[in-house]
Amino acid sequence: MKVLIVDDSKAIYMMVSQMLKEIGHDALWAEDGVDACNKLASEKVDLILLDWNMPNMSGPEFLEENGAENITDAPIVMMTTENKPDFIKKALQLGAVEYIMKPFTSDILQDKLELVFE
Ligand SMILES: [Mg+2]
Repeated sequence: MKVLIVDDSKAIYMMVSQMLKEIGHDALWAEDGVDACNKLASEKVDLILLDWNMPNMSGPEFLEENGAENITDAPIVMMTTENKPDFIKKALQLGAVEYIMKPFTSDILQDKLELVFE
């Protein structure tokens, strides 16, 4: 499976892509929502892991853009340090299928992927 990691932290990208590699998936990096739109114009991915806070275009802004412009059909999992019910509700309303709390372990990520694709 090909996974697009959208996060302004390269350290997060490196960590999560390593976890994905260990369970047999490939990862691509976009550093914000604008970069994600650009990457998705030429790359087909199976899943998107989306950060909340990013410059240029945040996670929620990317979800809104995708709702209006149909940028991708891939399921989108929000990665966030926010566990407030309002944040989670907003992400789901905007079209994310799941959310995962940062920081997370490889086991948690794998469980989440199974949940999304079951
Ligand atoms: Mg961020």
